[in-house]
Amino acid sequence: MSDIQIVGAPAGVEGSGFFATSLDKAVGLARANSLWPLPFATSCCGIEFMATMASHYDLSRFGAERLSFSPRQADLLMVMGTIAKKMGPVLRQVYLQMAEPRWVMAVGACASSGGIFDSYSVLQGIDEIIPVDVYVPGCPPRPEAIIDGFMCIQELVKTESTRRRNEPQYQKLLASYGIQ
Ligand code: SF4
Repeated sequence: MSDIQIVGAPAGVEGSGFFATSLDKAVGLARANSLWPLPFATSCCGIEFMATMASHYDLSRFGAERLSFSPRQADLLMVMGTIAKKMGPVLRQVYLQMAEPRWVMAVGACASSGGIFDSYSVLQGIDEIIPVDVYVPGCPPRPEAIIDGFMCIQELVKTESTRRRNEPQYQKLLASYGIQ
């Protein structure tokens, strides 16, 4: 069984008819296979990500070879590495600059929970400042685990209603992070 944790799996949308459901599926399939990840790599886990992108593991097989270093053109934020508290506002700003729909993956123990750095200066998980959809465990996670996490994101994207981002539950989640 996978150790990867997926958060916010979509609930069924009441009253969606055949057309809306089919549209959701078509849009979801297209989105899931054309994600533009933004790698926010600060330390060792970033090296594993480089291996994930290289020819042996080749994330382009999943339609995600086009990395985006501009948050405006990215829809998947992949956070890899130790995030110092001083860096938190920068990460949050990057997240805020991404347009909806956007997804977030915490890759590795540091991004997920602070990892071994239980210190006054290190964020004990990026979900202290932004919502996270998928957590990938490991120190560092191997490329296979990163790909597994990516596939979890794809499943989430595929099954997500195109209207979920306007739903009160999602708005409430953002509000809990002080995001309008
Ligand atoms: S989880 Fe481990 S490998 Fe990844 S950034 Fe932290 S210390 Fe480095």
